[in-house]
Amino acid sequence: MHQNSRIVTDLDHFKDSHPTFVTEIDMDDFEFDRATMLEAGCNFNTSEQCGLKKCRQRHRRGFILKTKDGHYFNIGQYCGKTNLGVTLHEWLEGYEAALKILTQKEVLSVEPKRLLKILHENKPRLLQLERINTFIWQHLKPLALEAAKRKKERRYRGLEFIASRLQFSSQVEQTEQEIEIILACGQEQMEREMDRTRLLAAYRLIKARITRMRSFESACLRFFGSEPGFGEAERGENLVRIFDDFSCIGDREMPACDVTSFTESIYIPALRKRVSAYGVFPV
Ligand SMILES: [Zn+2]
Repeated sequence: MHQNSRIVTDLDHFKDSHPTFVTEIDMDDFEFDRATMLEAGCNFNTSEQCGLKKCRQRHRRGFILKTKDGHYFNIGQYCGKTNLGVTLHEWLEGYEAALKILTQKEVLSVEPKRLLKILHENKPRLLQLERINTFIWQHLKPLALEAAKRKKERRYRGLEFIASRLQFSSQVEQTEQEIEIILACGQEQMEREMDRTRLLAAYRLIKARITRMRSFESACLRFFGSEPGFGEAERGENLVRIFDDFSCIGDREMPACDVTSFTESIYIPALRKRVSAYGVFPV
C-alpha cells in the first residue's frame, strides 16, 4: 500500500483545497487503485462524520481515500480497518518505518562527511600524540607502566594518553578509508535495507573510534593544562612535577632517568642528554 506521509488535521481545509471531495459515498459505486487509494491519515482537531453512507459515525482518527477517478472522501479508522486492513495507529507505524528509512539515508549522506572533516582537523595532533606515546613507551617505560596503574588517581587525571600504547596512524588511515567507502556508495545501495544497515553499523563504529581517539587527545590536554594562563613552560613543568612524584623515579630499574622538578628537564638515557620537558613532549 502506498504510504503517504501526510496527516490531515483540518477536514474543512482539505475540502477547500480538493474540489472533488465528496461528503457521502458508497464505496461500491467507485473503483479504487490499491496502490494509490490512501491519500492521507487523519487526526482531526474536531470529530468529523465518516464519509461512508452506511456508517456516518463521527471520528477524529481515520483516513482520506481517493477513488480511481480522483474523488476524495474521509473514513474513520474502524472503517479503515475494514476497507484497508489497517487502523490509523497501524498505518502510522508503517509511516514511521518509512520515516526511519528517510532518516537513515539522511544520516548516511551527511554524517560521514562531517566525521571525515573532524578526523582531518584532528589528525596532526593525533599523530603527534602517538609520537609522544611511542617515545615514552620506548625510552621511559617505567613511567608509562606507572601511569597505567595510577591513571584513576585524581591528581593524575589525564594520564590516559600514556597509559597504553596508542596506534593512531594506522587507525586514522583505516578510518579515512572506511569513510571513503561509505561516501562512494551509490543511490542503489542506499535503497537496499541490508546495505543501509551495514553502512550504518560501519558508520557507528567509525564514529566510536574517532570519539575514542579524541578522548585521548583531551586527556593529554587536561594533563598539560589547557586553561587560559597556562603557557608552554608551565605545561612542561606540569609534566616534570607529576613524573617527579612517581615512585618509579627512584627505582633501580630506571636509574638513568632523572626527572627533577626544579630544572623543568628530564635526563633521557636514550638521548644521553637532559632536555626540556616541553621539547620532549611537544603538544
Ligand atoms: Zn465509518
